[in-house]
Amino acid sequence: QGAIVVHLRVAPLAERYVLVLADDRTEITRTEAIRNDFVANVSHELKTPVGAISLLSEAIEDAAGDEVAVKRFTKRLHKESARLAALVQDIIELSRLQGTDVVLQGRPVEVGRIIGEAVDRNHLTAEGKNIAVTVGGTSNVVVHGDPDLLMTAFRNLVDNAIRYSPEGTKVGVGVRVRNGLVEVSVTDQGPGIGPDDQERVFERFYRVDAARSRQTGGTGLGLSIVKHVMSNHGGEVTVWSQPGQGSTFTVRLPIYEEGTVADGSPSD
Ligand code: ADP
Repeated sequence: QGAIVVHLRVAPLAERYVLVLADDRTEITRTEAIRNDFVANVSHELKTPVGAISLLSEAIEDAAGDEVAVKRFTKRLHKESARLAALVQDIIELSRLQGTDVVLQGRPVEVGRIIGEAVDRNHLTAEGKNIAVTVGGTSNVVVHGDPDLLMTAFRNLVDNAIRYSPEGTKVGVGVRVRNGLVEVSVTDQGPGIGPDDQERVFERFYRVDAARSRQTGGTGLGLSIVKHVMSNHGGEVTVWSQPGQGSTFTVRLPIYEEGTVADGSPSD
């Protein structure tokens, strides 16, 4: 006979306060529901590239002899398998981050170095769209965390800023220190995100414009991964945006050890 642990939570509801009674079984049911939901979404998302790969390989077989057609189908086949690979990688990353047994390979990490690398890794995409990515602000700020995960998070934010922006625009990455936290903002001149979508973009597989996300090679998991990386590091990610005027994604992380301020900017 397992004992039922009762959690008492006081939750603000409008102006009043209500007492919420919940036992562990409620929590388990909720976790299960979330997991089932994730599996259903994953199956649905995997079906598209897997189906396309199967159809394209048949098409290539049928087109034997027609060199132009074979080339065209092969190119699409490569694109779909790259999409599938990216999706599988993001799913693995996210399930790992959602686990209760996440072990961060924590060590002191210089934020500027990680940002520099994240920008470098996106430089071909940026060049292809003639987008200038600039990095500025406070340097030598150190946080404590897993450098690979932090890199994944920043790379996703810079990648989104480039992917959703029109050609010839600018992307800016700014670093500043505020209230004992380091704030990293990634600003673009893209289409922006409406108020109703701003909360939801951090949900798994939520896309404002599904066609556009797919067309640009998105998996729908990028921001969800960023959110989990940040919460695992005691930080957060938020978005500010006005449709038509671009977006700014801001990450806040506890500072581990503050270094020198190279550009003399105030650390208000
Ligand atoms: P995706 O792989 O679709 O880009 P994300 O989780 O990274 O998935 O983002 C979720 C959705 O949020 C995107 O599909 C897109 O609609 C929107 N979004 C993310 N970043 C930006 C941005 N910088 N500008 C405009 N929309 C964005």
